[in-house]
Amino acid sequence: MIKVTLPDGSVREFSQGVTPMDVAKNISEGFARNVISANYNNTTIETSTPLTTDGTLTLYTWNDKEGKKAFWHSTSHVMAQTLEEMFPGIKLTLGPAIDNGFYYDVDFGDNKITDADFKKIEDRVLEISREKHEFKMRAVTKAEALDKYKDNEYKTELISNLEDGTITFCDHATFTDLCRGGHIPNTGIIKAVKIMSIAGAYWRGDEKNKQLTRVYGTSFPKQKDLTDYLELLEEAKRRDHRKLGKELDLFHFSQRVGQGLPLWLPKGAALRDRLEQFLKKAQKKAGYEQVVTPHIGQKELYVTSGHYAKYGADSFQPITTPAEGEEFLLKPMNCPHHCEIYNSRPWSYKDLPKRYAEFGTVYRYEQSGELHGLTRVRGFTQDDAHIFCMPDQLDAEFKNVIDLVLYVFGSLGFENFTAQVSVRDLNNPDKYIGSIENWEKAENAIISAAKDKGLNYVIEAGEAAFYGPKLDFMVKDALGRSWQLGTIQVDYNLPERFELSYKGADDKLHRPVMIHRAPFGSMERFIAILLEHTAGNFPLWLMPEQAIILSLSEKYEKYAKKVLDLLEIHEIRALIDNRNETIGKKIREAEMQKMPFMLIVGEEEEKNGTISVRRNGQEGKGNITVTIEEFAKIVNEEISKTLKQF
Ligand SMILES: [Zn+2]
Ligand SMILES: [Zn+2]
Repeated sequence: MIKVTLPDGSVREFSQGVTPMDVAKNISEGFARNVISANYNNTTIETSTPLTTDGTLTLYTWNDKEGKKAFWHSTSHVMAQTLEEMFPGIKLTLGPAIDNGFYYDVDFGDNKITDADFKKIEDRVLEISREKHEFKMRAVTKAEALDKYKDNEYKTELISNLEDGTITFCDHATFTDLCRGGHIPNTGIIKAVKIMSIAGAYWRGDEKNKQLTRVYGTSFPKQKDLTDYLELLEEAKRRDHRKLGKELDLFHFSQRVGQGLPLWLPKGAALRDRLEQFLKKAQKKAGYEQVVTPHIGQKELYVTSGHYAKYGADSFQPITTPAEGEEFLLKPMNCPHHCEIYNSRPWSYKDLPKRYAEFGTVYRYEQSGELHGLTRVRGFTQDDAHIFCMPDQLDAEFKNVIDLVLYVFGSLGFENFTAQVSVRDLNNPDKYIGSIENWEKAENAIISAAKDKGLNYVIEAGEAAFYGPKLDFMVKDALGRSWQLGTIQVDYNLPERFELSYKGADDKLHRPVMIHRAPFGSMERFIAILLEHTAGNFPLWLMPEQAIILSLSEKYEKYAKKVLDLLEIHEIRALIDNRNETIGKKIREAEMQKMPFMLIVGEEEEKNGTISVRRNGQEGKGNITVTIEEFAKIVNEEISKTLKQF
């Protein structure tokens, strides 16, 4: 008999040779029908692999990341089989599962694959899948493996690097592939497949090697899942922040200025400014003080902080001056500057905590291939702050920061989020700096703050940085994609390196603890995420313009101007479209610009001192005719729904 431990900690006994699928059936037949892959003692195995020793078993379904991985990896075998059938003589190389699907890198030789082949490939993959072939693992000797692939230099290279006795093949139907394992029980559960695209890819990612063709695909256990996925992709394309940023005139990239260096256009700059003012106001209430620091710093500053040793080689290189011996770095982070602000005078325990905030622009070198719209740039502005406090104040400070982060999320319409607490790996104590006592204090402070604030959080052991534990927020956007936003990080390292101190009640000098935090992360990335989350329909309080006055003809220009002045008194941001165009065209264009309110003025409105109001996105509801005062009330009510007082 062997003992099999399940993830809930329960232990069941089985005779030796029991398979994961047998165990699944032992749990429940219904559950077993959904099980598609398995892991035993931290090794991926087949659901049909006999278990011969005691161990811990995890069974996965489609709903698990590991289950999807097995599903997509298995589909890549079937696709490889199909490609071999359709293009005889091709050489297969590697075909792993990736996020949202799989690919296979293929040397097509004299064959050529085009988009026109995709449908045929999909049909054949499904045809094979319907035959319900099982995936069977088989151990082979190195000699056997090399023999099978004697005409395939890629697989030969892979096999040469493997230890004899560890090499396995996977068979299904008439197809065999070199493979480590981790498949679904049989091909029958692959019900929908889509070949997504083809692209060039160098063998082993090295551009000195031969260029192969990467065939991307995805597959699902239900046709509807595929349809939903493709719709999601379409919606993501429509919401792409690079596209919306152009359409809404928010930002621009100029090759002449340089790659990865966004230029904020007036509307985008106004949006940024509004976000900054919003956060500054809340931070002021939370006891932060604004500071300003330069965009460059002496190289020595970053040698002291340790950043130069760690990132120097992969960063923008030092700037030299006409005077000899001077070297400066573009600021890659604000922390060292803030440490020196702290060091500008002595502190007593009564002065702490000190909270320094800065919208600090930093520069980090990214390879041009890594740049992506506003989410990966070379210059960006962090909504940064550093809190210097006593270890006993960590708990309260963490709660304050969580309050602020939740306020930011709530005001911007992010309702779906989780948190992750990253703590030490207790088996690896040498990895971390700072005293054990302080680490315990900090970790407990974070966990109790997360608990107290009712966060939905998980604790990840071993995920802490060497210099301190942290709390990260993961936000789900309107398309269900996860983004990491808002990090709160404890740091024992920089206070040490910058010799920060305060005088305690005991009249002795002590080291403060430092907290780094940035609710938005960076203005650039945050605005990109916000654009994709809202499709450009930002919360009303944040909109660069909240209303547009559309005059029915030039005759009402004067009245339109009067309406604009009245709106201004009510602090509603508006503009006038006085062009000699049809009202239908003006409305359509205003909608394209995501203008929240369209205010139509004509003869009736002028006579009665009213406006005809149309809310973007609510076409069905028709227009309402109201006075300016009534309209101001509508606007304020909508704003107060999202934007609360901090
Ligand atoms: Zn495989
Ligand atoms: Zn920092």
